[in-house]
Amino acid sequence: MEFCNLASGSRGNCTVISTDRVNIMIDDGLNLRALTERARLANIDLSTIDAILITHEHTDHVKGIASFCKKYSVPVYCHAESKEFLEPMIYPYVLDTDMDSPFELGDLTITPFRLPHDSNYNLGYKITQGKSVISIATDLGFVSEGTLEKLKGSDFVMLESNHDIDMLREGEYPFILKQRIMGKNGHLSNDDCAQAVLELARNGTKRFLLAHLSQDNNTPELAFDCTAKNLEKNYFTEGQDVFVDLANQYKSTRKFKI
Ligand SMILES: [Zn+2]
Ligand SMILES: [Zn+2]
Repeated sequence: MEFCNLASGSRGNCTVISTDRVNIMIDDGLNLRALTERARLANIDLSTIDAILITHEHTDHVKGIASFCKKYSVPVYCHAESKEFLEPMIYPYVLDTDMDSPFELGDLTITPFRLPHDSNYNLGYKITQGKSVISIATDLGFVSEGTLEKLKGSDFVMLESNHDIDMLREGEYPFILKQRIMGKNGHLSNDDCAQAVLELARNGTKRFLLAHLSQDNNTPELAFDCTAKNLEKNYFTEGQDVFVDLANQYKSTRKFKI
């Protein structure tokens, strides 16, 4: 499998996963023009996308799908509770799929799982090709035991590292918004991300992509250091035993081969 994140953060999210047989996009929160340019730079041909999987119906994850579907006639997979919201925008492209059970797309097995977030519903995805496993979990208030179990055994995990708790506490956001972000249905802090990464590294995951970093309450350095230092405190060497990369709001990651 090949994994490329084209954008990550509250201004738009999009990831493409490809095999020789199938190309899937997870979320489309970029307008078509920005997505087209980002894909061109990443050497991704958008006309080859076979399906879009939606995590949840927040604008930063779905803003681009109406124009994308119209141009490329691509089927959309999302949870029934997000479908209610999305269908008026993209009828007839949303499929009636049972997102509570695993399903196949080409040579991929897709296992959706629920994440705690303040949307109608939010899905993480475990994507398997043969023995290779990629998991994606962003926009989650906390990492439950159940979520951790779903993520265990992955070769590559894209996990949210949204905010530095001190920056958020001391920052300019209104109290109510701070409470929302810090809440059980908000976004994942660097500390909580670091703890989950450590648990997963102990279970054999070697590669992580920290994602959905806040522009206002985080920096790439703080997010990276929080996770890397926690690993090193626990006898993992980042860059040797475990590899940690950062997703970016404004540019694609490199293509990871998993
Ligand atoms: Zn989001
Ligand atoms: Zn969200």
